[in-house]
Amino acid sequence: MSENVRKLGPGRLVIASHNDGKVREINELLSPFGIEAVSAKKIGLAEPEETGITFAENAALKARAAATASGLPALADDSGLAVAALGGAPGIYSARWAGEPRSFANAMRKVEAALDESGTEDFSARFVCALCLAWPDGAIAIFEGDVRGRLAFPPRGINGFGYDPIFVADGYDITFGEMDPREKHSISHRADAFRKLMKACF
Ligand code: IMP
Repeated sequence: MSENVRKLGPGRLVIASHNDGKVREINELLSPFGIEAVSAKKIGLAEPEETGITFAENAALKARAAATASGLPALADDSGLAVAALGGAPGIYSARWAGEPRSFANAMRKVEAALDESGTEDFSARFVCALCLAWPDGAIAIFEGDVRGRLAFPPRGINGFGYDPIFVADGYDITFGEMDPREKHSISHRADAFRKLMKACF
């Protein structure tokens, strides 16, 4: 977590993401705090290239770009699925494994094929989230969270987004895709990072 943590008052905050699933979840997590969250896509901000090699670096470059361009505090999320037997892949490349145009059905098949090919019986995985808050003067604060679990095939459930239909959190039998969104928000990697952000910034 970084040093320059400031309090975040009521008002407008840019969510530095063009991913509708993430923007929806972040809005749901912020709604109790009197923050009016607007997405970078909605106010026409360009998406910077994710050239970092860690979740935290990518979150910081997205948040900084949105804060500088908008003159408002900005919040970015960089997150992904890290599969133990695949050395942490797809990791920061989680969105890119879905190709263009994005197909998470394909991305989930790729993960299954990579596990088959490796011959492993270790299906453990975790979702990781780095949140970065950036202010227009360049100050940033980073908060990281995760949720541990295992992968299950074939994909199940239509809730959530991305790799949710193949992820079963520790202590559960249903996938994130089958889980009520409120329950996902109470245990997810994003919720874990958010709890740290809320504690520091509100
Ligand atoms: P980013 O926009 O580069 O951070 O992309 C993150 C990608 O990781 C998303 O497009 C999803 O594929 C995946 N991901 C991150 N968080 C979740 C989640 O909560 N559920 C399912 N997939 C997720």
